[in-house]
Amino acid sequence: MPSPVAHSLIGLALGAAFFVPRARGASLRATLRPSRGLLCLSVAAATAADLDYLPGLFMGSLNAAHRLYTHTLGWSLLAALALWLIGRWWPARGADRPGAVASGWLAFIGLTLIALSHLAADWVTEDLRPPYGLMALWPINSHYYIAPHVLFLHLQKADFSQFFCRHNAWAVTVELAWCLPPLLAVLFYKQARIRHAHPPR
Ligand SMILES: [Zn+2]
Repeated sequence: MPSPVAHSLIGLALGAAFFVPRARGASLRATLRPSRGLLCLSVAAATAADLDYLPGLFMGSLNAAHRLYTHTLGWSLLAALALWLIGRWWPARGADRPGAVASGWLAFIGLTLIALSHLAADWVTEDLRPPYGLMALWPINSHYYIAPHVLFLHLQKADFSQFFCRHNAWAVTVELAWCLPPLLAVLFYKQARIRHAHPPR
């Protein structure tokens, strides 16, 4: 499964695509500022499936409960619903209030697609231990699915001592190579000056 780096970048790219309005040549900060709450929710939606690492922290193996029911369609819908409700109930603070946008059904659909992006990314990731893949369609069925060709490398993370190894550094480099260009492309599009067919005289 890819690291939180890949999932966060995918969440940011999709969140920016869904929730950040085009700012016509404004600074990056000014472009993102009104949507920063929704971008936080987007990153949370994209990474929520990996909450299943937490039980492993107490069981002595990070993978002990990993890649089961949180990596499913059912969990993705629940996570998106929970984050959408958080967005709706977010305390109002002027333009920074995510609820101003997150109260719409379109925001729920956006957060659902972002949560499902986690399954898509894990689906195209190298998996070296059975059962291979994930129960992506649970509760519709409990079959495991994995892509025939992978984009991301597996991470060595049976315990913390493996975490900072050369293989994982290469795996994260591959993730950056796949995930940074789409994010930069979305940000560039959101800031691009809009040309008018008939410029004002
Ligand atoms: Zn995962």
